[in-house]
Amino acid sequence: MSHATVPGTDRVTGRARGWAGFLAIGFTAAAVYALTTAAWLSALSFSVIGVGAGLSIVYGVHRYRPSPRHPWWFLAAACFFFTTGALLRGWAQETGAASVIADCFTIPGYALMFIGLNGFLRSRTGVKRHAVIDGLIVGLGATLVFAILFAVPAASVVGRDGVVSALAGLYPLLDGVLVLLVLNLAFATARRGPSYYMLISCMSLMLVGDIAYAIIGTAGRLTGSPLLDLPFLLGFTLVGGAGLHPTMVDIGRDESLPVQAWSLRRLVLILPALVVPFVLAVAIGHPSTLERVLLAVGGAALVGLVLARAVSAVRGYAAAQEQYEYQATHDPLTGLPNRARWFAEVRTLLAQAGPDEQVWVFFLDLDGFKYVNDSRGHRAGDQVITEVAARLRQCAPASAAIARVGGDEFVVAYGAARHDAVRLADDILRTIRKTLKMPTVDVVISASIGIAHSTGPEHDVTAEDLLRDADTAMYQAKANGRDNWAMFDPVMRDRVQERIEIDLALREAMAAGCLHLEFQPVVELAGGRIVGAEALIRWTHPTRGVIGPDSFIPVAEESGLIIELGRWVMHEAMRQLAQWRAAGTVGEDFWMSINVSPRQLRDPRLAGELSAALRRHRLPAASVVVELTESVMIDPTSGADQALRSLRDLGLSLVVDDFGTGFSALGYLRTYPVTGVKIDKSFVVGLGHNPEDEAIVRAVVAMSSALQLSVVAEGVEDEHQRDLLARVGVRHGQGWLWGRAVDAETFAALWSPGAVQIAA
Ligand code: C2E
Ligand code: CA
Ligand code: CA
Repeated sequence: MSHATVPGTDRVTGRARGWAGFLAIGFTAAAVYALTTAAWLSALSFSVIGVGAGLSIVYGVHRYRPSPRHPWWFLAAACFFFTTGALLRGWAQETGAASVIADCFTIPGYALMFIGLNGFLRSRTGVKRHAVIDGLIVGLGATLVFAILFAVPAASVVGRDGVVSALAGLYPLLDGVLVLLVLNLAFATARRGPSYYMLISCMSLMLVGDIAYAIIGTAGRLTGSPLLDLPFLLGFTLVGGAGLHPTMVDIGRDESLPVQAWSLRRLVLILPALVVPFVLAVAIGHPSTLERVLLAVGGAALVGLVLARAVSAVRGYAAAQEQYEYQATHDPLTGLPNRARWFAEVRTLLAQAGPDEQVWVFFLDLDGFKYVNDSRGHRAGDQVITEVAARLRQCAPASAAIARVGGDEFVVAYGAARHDAVRLADDILRTIRKTLKMPTVDVVISASIGIAHSTGPEHDVTAEDLLRDADTAMYQAKANGRDNWAMFDPVMRDRVQERIEIDLALREAMAAGCLHLEFQPVVELAGGRIVGAEALIRWTHPTRGVIGPDSFIPVAEESGLIIELGRWVMHEAMRQLAQWRAAGTVGEDFWMSINVSPRQLRDPRLAGELSAALRRHRLPAASVVVELTESVMIDPTSGADQALRSLRDLGLSLVVDDFGTGFSALGYLRTYPVTGVKIDKSFVVGLGHNPEDEAIVRAVVAMSSALQLSVVAEGVEDEHQRDLLARVGVRHGQGWLWGRAVDAETFAALWSPGAVQIAA
C-alpha cells in the first residue's frame, strides 16, 4: 500500500506506519482476550485496545490535522465510553451489581459515535438528498428487522427489571441508525483510502457484535462468552488504525461522489429494505399488536421514503435538464443568449412582425476592444464585455433579442418602425460611449453598428441573411470612422465580395512575382536637379492589366497582407537604390521615399526589419525616407509615438504624407519626431486660382521653417504651380511636370547624370 503518494501527506515519514503497529498490537490483545480466562488479563487487553484506539485518534488528529476535526474527537470519546462501559459490564457481572451502570456509558458511546459519523457527512457541502433518502430507506428497513427480530423479544422477556428489558430492546434499534450512517458515509465518500475502509469495517464489526448480543438478548440473557466481544475488539483496533492512517484526512473532506439517480448497486441495497415489511409479516406467525403496529408504521414510512426518493430524482433530473439547456443556449460571461438561441428568437420576430413593422438587426462591434484586452488584461476585457452587455440590456426595449456572438460582438434584433430603430442605434452608441469605471482605471470605449432590416410586409428574409448584412454594414461603420452606425446597402455586399477577390488575387500576385515598383523623381524646384525618388507599387494583373495601388492598398491594409507587401516594397526599393548608387546612376545624397501604412507602423517588428534591410543593402539611414499618413499620429491607441521614435533612432527621415488633408490639429508635428511634410496635391492643384490653397501652402511653409521641417510639394503638373511654390519658399517638388512614376530601367535612362532631360 503506497500511501506516500496520497495528496496532502508529504509529512509522512516512517513513523506514519504507526497505524500498522497499532493494528498488530490490537489483534494480539484481541487474541489474548479470546484465549485467557483470567479476568484481569481480559480487562487489560480490552483497555489496551479501547483506550489505545481513542489515543490513536487523538494522535492522528494532531498529526494530520484533518478538517473538520470534531468528528474525530467524538469518535475518540466514543472509544473511551465504550471501553468504560465494557469494563463496568464485566465488573457488574462479577460482583452482581446492576448492569445498568454499564449502559450509562455504552449508550452515550453510541450517541457520540453517531454524532461523529454524522459530522463527516455534514462537512460535505450539500449532502445529496438522494444519498440521504437511500440511506434512510435501508436504515429503516434494517431497523424494522432489528425491532421485530430482536428489540421486541428482548423487551418482552418476562421476569426482570423493566429498565433492563427496555435497554436490551434499545440496542438493536441503535443498530438501525448505525446502518443508516454507515451507508450514507459509503454513498457519499469520493476518496476511499485505507482509513475509510478501516472505519467502515469497524462499523460493520460493531454491527455483527450487536447482532450477536441481540440474538442472546431475545433469550433474556445480557452477557455471554467473551468471544462475543471479539467483533468489538477488532472494530476498535480498526478505528484506531483509521485514525492513525494518513488518509484519515480524506474522510471528512468536502467532496462527494456525483450521486447517480439510480444505479444497480443502489437498487440491490434498497430493494431488500423495501420487501422487509412483507417478509416479516409472513415470517411472524402470530403477530402481536405491537408488531403489527411496527410493521404498518414502518411499511408506510418506507413507501413515503420511496415516494420522496422518486420526487427528488425527478426534480433533480428536471433541474439538471434546465441547467443544461441554459448552458447550451447562453453565453457564460454575460448571461445573454448565444447565437443559436438568438436566431430562434429572430425567426419568431420575423414570423410575428406586423405589416407596417420591420425586423431590425444590429451588429455591434466594440472599437479598440483588442487594445483594452491587450493592455489591461483579460479580466478588464471581461469586465468591459459584461458592462456593455448590461448597458445594451438596459438600453434596448424588453422585446428586443440581444446576444453575444463573438469576443466583442453583440447582436440586437427587434421589430419596430424605422425611426425607432435609428433612435435605438443612437441610444446604444451614446450609452456605450459613457466612461466605464473600473477598479484601477477608467476606460472609454465606443462601438460601430451595422444595421440590416427585413423588407416588405412578408418579411421573407432569413435571420442568417439579416445577420450577414448587418455584419457587412458594420464594416462600413468602422470604415466611416467608428463610433457610428451604417445601414446596409446591397452595394456594400458587392464591395465586400470584391475585396475578398482582390485580397486573394493579391496574395497570388505576390507569390507569382507580378508586383513591381515604379519610381517618381523628387527635384529641386529651382533648377530641377534630382534629389530623390518615391517608390510606388504596381500590380500587373494577367487579365485586368496594371492595377493602381489605390484599389488594392486599402484592401491589403484591412486584411493584414500589407505587412508582407510592405516588407517586399522596403527590400525592393533599397535593393534598387543600392544598385543605382553602385552604378553611379544617383549621387550619395539621393534619397528613396518608401510609403509605410498605419498597419505596418503598428507592427513591432518594423524598426528591426528596416534596420536589417539597411545593413543588408549597405545603405546609410539618411538615404531612406519613410512616408507616413497623418492618421497614425492622431490615433492615441496606435502606439505611434514609440514606433516613430524607434525609426527616428535608426536615423531615417520621417515625412508626413498628404499633409493638410487629414486633421486640422497641427500640434502633433511638435510632439512627434517627424522630419518633414509633403504638401498634398489637392492644395497644389488650386494654386493660381484658389487663394485659400495658396494661404494654406504659405502657412505650412511658415510653420515648417519654424519647426525646421523639410517641405516637398507633390502633384506639381505645370510651371505656374512650380513658380508659385518656389516663391512661397517650398524647396522640393514632385509631379508630372518633371516625370511620372516609371520602372527602374526607364528611371535610370531618364535620370542618370549623363541622360538628356526630356521634361521641363
Ligand atoms: P501617395 O503616396 O500620395 O503617392 C502619390 C500619388 O500621386 C501616386 O499615385 C502618384 O503616381 C501620383 N502622382 C504623382 N505625381 C502626380 C501629379 O503630378 N498629378 C497627379 N494627379 N498625381 C500624381 P499612385 O502611384 O497611384 O499611388 C497612390 C497611393 O498608393 C500613394 O499615394 C500611396 O498612398 C499608396 N502607395 C503606393 N505605393 C505604396 C507602397 O509601396 N506602400 C504603401 N503602403 N502605399 C503605397
Ligand atoms: Ca507617398
Ligand atoms: Ca501623397
